[in-house]
Amino acid sequence: LRAPWALHCGLGPDSPLSALMLKVVAFTLEAVGMPMVVGGNARTVDALRSVIERHGGELHTGCDVAQVLVQGRQAVGVALSDGRRFMGRDVVANTTPTQLYGRLLAPEHTPATVRAQAQAYRYGKGNLQIHLALREPPQWCAPALASVGYVHLSPGLAGVARAVTEAENGLLPAEGTICVGQPSALDGSRAPDGGAVLWLQLPECPRQVLGDAAGQISAPADGAWTEAVREAYADRIVARLARQMPNLPSAIVGRAVLSPADLARMNINLVGGDPYSGACTLDQFGLWRPLPGVKDHRTPVPHLWHIGASPHPGP
Ligand SMILES: Cc1cc2nc3c(=O)[nH]c(=O)nc-3n(C[C@H](O)[C@H](O)[C@H](O)COP(=O)(O)OP(=O)(O)OC[C@H]3O[C@@H](n4cnc5c(N)ncnc54)[C@H](O)[C@@H]3O)c2cc1C
Repeated sequence: LRAPWALHCGLGPDSPLSALMLKVVAFTLEAVGMPMVVGGNARTVDALRSVIERHGGELHTGCDVAQVLVQGRQAVGVALSDGRRFMGRDVVANTTPTQLYGRLLAPEHTPATVRAQAQAYRYGKGNLQIHLALREPPQWCAPALASVGYVHLSPGLAGVARAVTEAENGLLPAEGTICVGQPSALDGSRAPDGGAVLWLQLPECPRQVLGDAAGQISAPADGAWTEAVREAYADRIVARLARQMPNLPSAIVGRAVLSPADLARMNINLVGGDPYSGACTLDQFGLWRPLPGVKDHRTPVPHLWHIGASPHPGP
């Protein structure tokens, strides 16, 4: 029952730290449950935007920050790749250390040790998302699951450990954990009357596909997540889910699948499709996150702060 929760910390049941993180997850679920935003998570962005605008700020999207501007050893603003500049008292970077120290900051502004540590920063397993639109709600073999917001479908502790090992070794898992989100079971605004949506997360995916643990899907020579691999793997997942929801195949009216490579293209922070912006292993967690040489969201450049999933406390 508990093993799949380790996946939401970027770990597997065999990873050091997973037992501790399971306690953190259990405590959090007990304390606050698993909140779901009515109307979809875009409402969270709307709420944050309104806070910023109420305080006189502006939100620009679709812009690429190419450089953190430094004057007199202090951060003073950012330059976009289209040439525009924004100046300010502080710069807050929600990036990976790879990007911050390898791209946004010129090397002369950071010690060589920090640059070397950023270069050695590692990323975790990839994640694949399947979004399904259904003409009718799923009919679970276990009817009580119909009203549960979030279900893990897994063969159990050994199965999760096996799938993690397969993914970490470049294989598409034969029987990966399926995290089944059922937003429309709790929030009627998510689907037209009578319909439903399913949000499926596959947290045990290889960043590069070297093979298939089930021996059915052929891996491209360069290990890329091609459209063919992505859709074939999604077919496997939907078929497994259909064993628990017999009406699923006939209920599907729309399907969108995002591979780890698609996620990485959508957000530069999701390197290799790692949803947690960096492996959450013991050597890259707590005191050592993001890097042994920086802490407390500080950087070697005064007035430049590092936030997001990459620095402590992580995602
Ligand atoms: C598919 C998926 C499912 C997840 N599910 C859950 C879940 O159920 N529960 C949970 O708690 N967490 C979940 N996570 C993890 C969670 O989404 C992340 O930890 C969280 O979004 C991190 O938020 P953030 O604001 O710090 O960073 P981000 O969401 O990465 O936001 C930072 C933004 O800055 C942008 N950016 C970076 N560099 C630049 C640049 N140079 N110029 C311009 N913009 C830039 C990025 O593109 C990004 O849009 C999930 C992640 C994924 C991908």
